[in-house]
Amino acid sequence: MAVAILSPEKAISRKGKLLINGEFVDALSGKEFETLNPSTGEVLAHVAEADKADVDRAVKAARTAFEEGPWSRMNARERGRLLLRLTQLVADHADELALIDTLDNGKPIRETTHVDVPLVIDCLGYYAGWADKIEGETIPVNGPFLNYTLKEPVGVVGQIIPWNFPLLMAAWKLGPALATGCTVVLKPAEQTPLSALRLGELILEAGFPEGVVNILPGFGPTAGAAIASHLDVDKVAFTGSTEVGRLIMEMAAKSNLKRVTLELGGKAPNIVMSDAIIDEAVKGAVTGIFLNQGEVCCAGSRLFVEDKVHDEVVSKLKAYAEGIKVGNPLDPATEMGAQVSEEQLDRILNYCQSGKAEGATVVTGGGRNTAAGKGYFMHPTIFSDVKDSMKIAREEIFGPVVSAIRFSEIGEAVQRGNRTNYGLSAAVWTRDIKKAHTIARKLRAGVVWINTYNTFDAASPFGGYKESGIGRELGKHALANYLETKSVWVALE
Ligand code: ADP
Repeated sequence: MAVAILSPEKAISRKGKLLINGEFVDALSGKEFETLNPSTGEVLAHVAEADKADVDRAVKAARTAFEEGPWSRMNARERGRLLLRLTQLVADHADELALIDTLDNGKPIRETTHVDVPLVIDCLGYYAGWADKIEGETIPVNGPFLNYTLKEPVGVVGQIIPWNFPLLMAAWKLGPALATGCTVVLKPAEQTPLSALRLGELILEAGFPEGVVNILPGFGPTAGAAIASHLDVDKVAFTGSTEVGRLIMEMAAKSNLKRVTLELGGKAPNIVMSDAIIDEAVKGAVTGIFLNQGEVCCAGSRLFVEDKVHDEVVSKLKAYAEGIKVGNPLDPATEMGAQVSEEQLDRILNYCQSGKAEGATVVTGGGRNTAAGKGYFMHPTIFSDVKDSMKIAREEIFGPVVSAIRFSEIGEAVQRGNRTNYGLSAAVWTRDIKKAHTIARKLRAGVVWINTYNTFDAASPFGGYKESGIGRELGKHALANYLETKSVWVALE
């Protein structure tokens, strides 16, 4: 067993290993690191720490599996069946997987149970269905030729994922990679390696051949960098900060021009017009910023509110925020858990300080929530009187902190909403259907929600404009990230 968490007590002192070539092994260096429970600050488990030498081993295994192993000869339909089997195994272990992510990340069990794990099942099942439906084309070319295309897996792919939705990010990455026939070296975030390792066990149990999926917990500058700059990795898919995304692209460019897809940060405008159903808009704003402790790249962190309804929206939002039950993530009643780490909590607190120093008004919250426990808890926080130029309105906070910003005319709100280097998501609340669709076109973001927020489906593409990323995850769009197109010419005369 790599790691087995059946109850919170049993989790402690278990050891996680690296999954390489179908086996759970120690790091070559023998090094280990600790993963903490953010709601208590205590050590949850010790995990083998991969570095470059382990990445080399894993890439070799993935290359062999891609070129010579049973995976390379497997029918697409059989690949789909394996993915379906994995989907079923995840469903069978849903409670355990939800518990692992809650312990490792600090997010409420009600979210891991009702949001994360169901979306994982949805995603893996969706891509299982794609495996045997990836087709090329026959192209009418000039001359006596038959020309057709083959859609082939890109090869060995490196996948580097963040800590905010540990298992879900693994599923978003693995689903399309496995459906297309790639082999994978996946690095979970150092803060949250445990659910990926448990998934690794289920992957073996499902019957995926050795070397198809390798899972290497470790740190960014060592294991992560080794993946991104590896000469025998054909593609790297990354989700994380824009800052690290830039490094990944640079490493890919400097090594072997491996294909790159990036899903990065955001600073979404969530625009409430005065003709919206205000109570629904307020609920949407709550989901938009407080889901997952605000540790969401598409969080609605800039709440643009039309003058006429500004005070009503802010006061209703305040009432909601103050009613959010913050505390022990294992309590099914808890609505907001702990931030993932002390470092992340400090970052958020610094932003709160900066908001105050720059003259924004604290409507509620603005500090650490010590009453919720000894872990890294925040108070849900609302700032008003926020100006576009303030740091809290410009930079991604990645915490439960929303800036309410007034506007008087919708064209102005769209313009100010777009005035950011990010472009991951945006939302608009209005009863006017014409305005809604027109605004959706004008917002420069990869996802636009109308009268809803944080809605996801495995079939619908997700990804960013501008510095929020390159490429799209989910849906049929994600398959393209893992495929090469080969044009085949046949002389007919
Ligand atoms: P966050 O700031 O939200 O922690 P990061 O972008 O730092 O997000 O981390 C996302 C993922 O990228 C993690 O798996 C992390 O280990 C990895 N990572 C961080 N730095 C690097 C790096 N220099 N090279 C490759 N991967 C990295």
